[in-house]
Amino acid sequence: KIYLDYNASAPLKPEARDTAVAALGIGGNPSSVHQSGREARAIIERAREDVAILVGGRTQDVIFTSGATEANNLAIRGFVPEGEPRRVIVNGTEHPSVLEAVGDAEHLPVKADGVVDIGFLQRMLADRDWRNCLVSVMAVNNETGVVQPIDEVVAVAHAAGAKVHCDAVQAAGHMPIDMLERGIDIVTISAHKMGGPRGVGAVATGPGVALNAIIRGGGQERGMRSGTENPAGIAGMGAVCASAPSYGPNVAKARELRDRLEVALRETIPASVIVAANSPRVGHVCCVALPGVPAETQVMMMDLEGIAVSAGAACSSGKIKTSHVLREMGLGDDISGSAIRVSFGWNSRDEDVDGFLEAFHRMAARIGS
Ligand code: PLP
Repeated sequence: KIYLDYNASAPLKPEARDTAVAALGIGGNPSSVHQSGREARAIIERAREDVAILVGGRTQDVIFTSGATEANNLAIRGFVPEGEPRRVIVNGTEHPSVLEAVGDAEHLPVKADGVVDIGFLQRMLADRDWRNCLVSVMAVNNETGVVQPIDEVVAVAHAAGAKVHCDAVQAAGHMPIDMLERGIDIVTISAHKMGGPRGVGAVATGPGVALNAIIRGGGQERGMRSGTENPAGIAGMGAVCASAPSYGPNVAKARELRDRLEVALRETIPASVIVAANSPRVGHVCCVALPGVPAETQVMMMDLEGIAVSAGAACSSGKIKTSHVLREMGLGDDISGSAIRVSFGWNSRDEDVDGFLEAFHRMAARIGS
């Protein structure tokens, strides 16, 4: 079996598994004052520090959630002081959990290379002096790997008095986030994209950012996210965050594999189109289209060969659709409906590229591309 779908979910790293399994053995409720409660609490607080270090934020400003979908909802829906007028500006290539968090978000377009149009943002913000404006731009796109100019977004937004939310799900563990140093106001991440467990994520806020809870109840997580915490998931997340600096060699390896894959695709399958090939991109994602062949067909044929890749956005299963990310970049249905995503990560090997290429060639020959 060959796994090339790290952007959908990375295989669990051994340190995350070990830490999570050890935490599962602790019986107490982290809010209980007795010893087993305190043990569970200690696990969570330690992980909070590890997350804060990874994002470059303050430990006390990290809120654990059930994943990045909830984290993005909290960041955006929770941003606004209740009852006050507010404005939300959202990059058009965001994950649906950002795009759909509020119904009245304004649309920030990207240019043909997939990078947000900073001049457009500047003009949007010049429009009026909004005290309650949030601009949401992701660090790295999940489908194409395009890297957004977050420092420029921050500069333009702050100059207009707006705050910035950055969905750093696909950047965490691959590059530094440094939220305080760079002035990013809210960062969201997810454990399972980095080799941690599924179902756990975090929001980190910077100075002067107040959020309103969207899940209310017992007041856990400083009242920002009620519900008994998930110590095992949180411990596993802390473990992958703590090991992130050792990702360096894996990041370089993933880039080497991706580059070799793209050279081979260009040379041997002239009909293939590599999306965002000349854009600023991370090194572990290849988005390749085979025009005329539906992405779902390709994914199924590759699966029969034992190879796991995904069609554009793989987060919502069962739906056959064209990629909104590629459409935003101005690509037609021939490309946006036929693009698959090959993504590498911490455990990717040379054989994965060889196996993928062999199967892809067989598939292309069978369907006459
Ligand atoms: N943001 C991005 C960029 C993603 O790729 C994903 C992946 O699903 C999410 C948010 C949602 O994360 P989660 O699966 O933790 O809800």
